[in-house]
Amino acid sequence: MHPVRAYIGMGSNLQNPVAQVRQAFQALAGLPASRFIACSPLYRTAPVSGPPDQPDYVNAVAALDTALSPDELLTALQRIETSQGRVRTVRWGPRTLDLDLLLYDALQRDDSRLTLPHPRLHERAFVLYPLYDIAPDLTIPGRGPLIELRKNCPPLSLIRLDSPN
Ligand code: ATP
Ligand code: CA
Ligand code: CA
Repeated sequence: MHPVRAYIGMGSNLQNPVAQVRQAFQALAGLPASRFIACSPLYRTAPVSGPPDQPDYVNAVAALDTALSPDELLTALQRIETSQGRVRTVRWGPRTLDLDLLLYDALQRDDSRLTLPHPRLHERAFVLYPLYDIAPDLTIPGRGPLIELRKNCPPLSLIRLDSPN
């Protein structure tokens, strides 16, 4: 299969989030049939969904070229989450690692397992800003140019971490 470009959103707010995100970059770089293309800077954000009394998140986005199918890639992402100690409790509750498949080429899909593009990416500063850092010319299928979506989404509590990653 011809490889396609996929974008992965990552978030952590437990057990040293910066280290969790860096470890996830390493795990993504080791995926089979895939080539790691880029990672964004890391951002710190206050939680926007779920219980308000949880720690701040560290978020970032990675780009991969992959010959894995969307389902294979989602399974691989869930395996990485589990291996980094993800436990599923309340919706949008605190987690060691969340990996969302943001985009799989220009594929649009909506079924019980996988929605593409990720259904909330266009309204989340913690996705739009790091995604723009590594792919400013993207168009989000069904939503329009990334640059416009970002312009319409105030960065609120988003803080770019200067540490190299
Ligand atoms: P949100 O989707 O709002 O970011 P979340 O990341 O906390 O919330 P999870 O509990 O990690 O949600 O995932 C719930 C389900 O979402 C997963 O079981 C998965 O099957 C489904 N899902 C649908 N589309 C996607 C996608 N594009 N990327 C990752 N998971 C997806
Ligand atoms: Ca998520
Ligand atoms: Ca998720």
